[in-house]
Amino acid sequence: MLNLIIFGPPGAGKGTQSEKIIAQYQLEHISTGDLLRAERNAGTELGNKANEYISRGELVPDEVVIGMVRNFMLSKTSAKGFIFDGFPRTIPQAEALDIMLLEFNTSIAIVLGLEVEEDELVKRLMLRGQTSGRVDDQDESTVRNRFREYQNKTLPLQDFYAKQGKYNSVKGIGKVDEIFSNLCSLINTIKQ
Ligand code: ADP
Repeated sequence: MLNLIIFGPPGAGKGTQSEKIIAQYQLEHISTGDLLRAERNAGTELGNKANEYISRGELVPDEVVIGMVRNFMLSKTSAKGFIFDGFPRTIPQAEALDIMLLEFNTSIAIVLGLEVEEDELVKRLMLRGQTSGRVDDQDESTVRNRFREYQNKTLPLQDFYAKQGKYNSVKGIGKVDEIFSNLCSLINTIKQ
């Protein structure tokens, strides 16, 4: 299996690049943001609870997202590999992911971090808010709260994966295809 994490702050382009990587390497996409929004749109109890956190720009509790990822992985037993997008976002999530992958006899091959400065991110998110209908992209204080959560809870994962020798960063500003090609070069270094 080839398991990748696409990492970076809100608005860095994780979803856009994930789609291209999936097409190239035939991976299953696990976007916890998409899964949570699907739960909310279906009006499930989990979705309604999660929406309270999402609309405030806070992270959803670890046990909720970990359970959701586990169920998704169990439903895709014939996957060639997974690309994790928006997960893990905390150290406990990363630790749980390592254990889950071990149960599948596999592990994370590489972490691809997209680097974009905050001014550009705010611009992108506000622009996305005009068309995506995502309430968490429309309000500046919610957007700022998401950055705070990212700084405090998610950024420590860079070190977590650097210590495992898996963290790689790529400039996330420029043409989508150029960024994609830089990501592919990194992925190809771990694919024999
Ligand atoms: P973005 O990367 O633009 O913030 P996402 O779609 O990945 O967008 O996430 C939207 C929201 O969903 C987050 O702000 C958070 O509230 C919630 N969420 C998504 N993934 C996770 C996760 N792994 N852990 C906790 N909360 C999450």
